[in-house]
Amino acid sequence: MKEDYYDILEISKSATAAEIKKAYRKKALQYHPDKNPGDHEAEAMFKKSAEAYEVLSDPNKRSRYDQYGHRAFENGGGFGGGGMNMEDIFSQFGDIFGGAFGGGFGGGFGGGGRRTVKGSNLRIRVQLTLEEIANGVEKKIKVKRKKLAKGTTYKTCSTCNGQGQVTRIQNTILGRMQTSATCSTCGGLGQIVDSKPANADAEGMLVTEETVSIKIPAGVVDGMQLKVSGKGNDAPGNGIAGDLLVAIEEKPHPTLQREGDNLHYDLYISFSEAALGTSREIETVTGKVRIKIDNGAQSGKILRLRNKGIPSINGYGTGDLLVHVNVWTPKSLSKEQREFFEKMSNDEHFQPKPEKEDKSFFEKVKDMFS
Ligand SMILES: [Zn+2]
Repeated sequence: MKEDYYDILEISKSATAAEIKKAYRKKALQYHPDKNPGDHEAEAMFKKSAEAYEVLSDPNKRSRYDQYGHRAFENGGGFGGGGMNMEDIFSQFGDIFGGAFGGGFGGGFGGGGRRTVKGSNLRIRVQLTLEEIANGVEKKIKVKRKKLAKGTTYKTCSTCNGQGQVTRIQNTILGRMQTSATCSTCGGLGQIVDSKPANADAEGMLVTEETVSIKIPAGVVDGMQLKVSGKGNDAPGNGIAGDLLVAIEEKPHPTLQREGDNLHYDLYISFSEAALGTSREIETVTGKVRIKIDNGAQSGKILRLRNKGIPSINGYGTGDLLVHVNVWTPKSLSKEQREFFEKMSNDEHFQPKPEKEDKSFFEKVKDMFS
């Protein structure tokens, strides 16, 4: 059971934005990794508080959380299984601690004045069928990522003495100015490669192919991007690996059209089927379904198959499958058929008599959105 965000920050459900910020600031200071080196419990609390703050400080997310609890983010957020990483947390700090703290804390994790170096992100595209989107799927994908080669060792950078930053003092007309910049020798890492295997690159990395398993939740949308934390390129030294960013591509379905979480299907029935009634097997994203069409079916009728659409990515139920009935009028007739229809043209049963249930097009549209 996931802990309540309000309990984590020890605030009431009606806490104001300022109270939330204050509570988080207190927790962040208490559990900061620099104050609790090697203390995994403190680190876990540090991350939990950051996650709680991330949600409660955003009015939109907060209202969704208040309404649905942790369920609100089960599918949409938290990909890669693990809330926020340290970099995300530190990037919040400018906002929380203001300028005075922002820099110091941002660089704090990992010790000294070094900044945590993060490996670069990798991007891939994954093509999914509508069935895979409707049911969720686990994809195993081969990814070429830079990994730290075995046998690579590092030594302290002598340019910055391991600080990752170089400070310069300049005399200007405004007085003495102190400026600091990222060390160009080590790129801010504070360490440089000491020895590495012959086949590794200058940073001690090797490109390796790895099969990454990606759990794709049901209801994703074309263009959406999922993040698998730590499956990007490794960072040199004691940095953290980048992320694998997965762009979702939806393959067109041969018979179903998606519109949000609803699906549409065009059903064509013959003139005689419309008059006599029929039943048809149609394909849905969860298998075949037999539907019954009553005699006297009109073209334009919409049959709604509830929950046969796409589950909402945010967990708000499942869409419907809307079957649009189209009556196929014969385009050519034999002599006999022509005579039959001519005979029928004045027949009472062949005269249009729209009833209440044969709603107008606009009424039907209204119905669909209500
Ligand atoms: Zn350096």
